[in-house]
Amino acid sequence: ATPTAVMVGTGVGASQGVLIKGGQALESAHKVNCIVFDKTGTLTIGKPLVVNTKLLKNMVLREFYELVAAVEANSEHPLAKAVVEYAKKFRDDEERPVWPEARDFQSITGHGVKATVKNKEIIVGNESLMVDQNVDIPLDAEEMLAEVEGFAQTGILVAIDGELIGVLAISDPLKPSAREVISILKSMKVKSIMVTGDNWGTAKSIAKEVGIDDVIAEAKPEHKAEIVKELQASGYTVAMVGDGINDSPALVAADVGMAIGAGTDIAIEAADIVLMKSNLEDVITAIDLSRKTFTRIR
Ligand code: ADP
Ligand code: MG
Repeated sequence: ATPTAVMVGTGVGASQGVLIKGGQALESAHKVNCIVFDKTGTLTIGKPLVVNTKLLKNMVLREFYELVAAVEANSEHPLAKAVVEYAKKFRDDEERPVWPEARDFQSITGHGVKATVKNKEIIVGNESLMVDQNVDIPLDAEEMLAEVEGFAQTGILVAIDGELIGVLAISDPLKPSAREVISILKSMKVKSIMVTGDNWGTAKSIAKEVGIDDVIAEAKPEHKAEIVKELQASGYTVAMVGDGINDSPALVAADVGMAIGAGTDIAIEAADIVLMKSNLEDVITAIDLSRKTFTRIR
């Protein structure tokens, strides 16, 4: 393609809300034959909601949620926001709740959070976090987790002073277009893979819903980048689509990194292409545009 064609292509992209950072990104996109999708906020809406709470001990929900929200209020994670939003419902100061102070706040990336609130040690996160923190997971909690994951929801565990007290079910539905986008990509001979930090149960349920056969769950940020590199080593030209800080190493590693516009600044910075409207369909717009610019019809 001529420099003019590239300029036109980039301009057409911009007018459609697909921000292409340079000619190289536009060129690489037409060779893409494999796309790695993040789950949360990329394939799913990314505005998760608490849909169920199970307490294993006798405790007032209002008090339980006060402790949990005090910790999660310090986290930027979409799941944390869901928990805080839900916790507000139990309060009189719902508009501007004042949570108790959380001391020694710790965020364990890809696992959860921990802090001391009202002299109690509160741990909120996934199963592996509980295992790391020496919290026993009773059988009824295991059963609840399995059920929640079967519904394609995420189960979050809460421990207070080393004892597992609650299981939260959080639902983050697929974006309305997700299934169709994956099916169109299939017809374009582009392979789709889902990679997520979420657990295997939930990941498999979501993948089934969206029509993706290849799933990798419980992936740390470095792991996401490694997966991209492995695919490249086996001959694929790889695009990564993501929205989170945890996706940025993979966005950089990919031949084409595509960030969801509504995503975090770090992801947007790491990407070669930004989908400004946050529409998943624009993954296809970007590839189409590149194919039109770089494959001449003879
Ligand atoms: P994804 O790749 O799907 O965006 P992450 O790697 O950010 O997921 O998180 C993986 C898992 O770690 C979550 O599904 C959740 O179980 C747990 N987790 C992470 N941060 C938090 C938090 N602030 N509160 C509760 N759980 C969390
Ligand atoms: Mg995400």
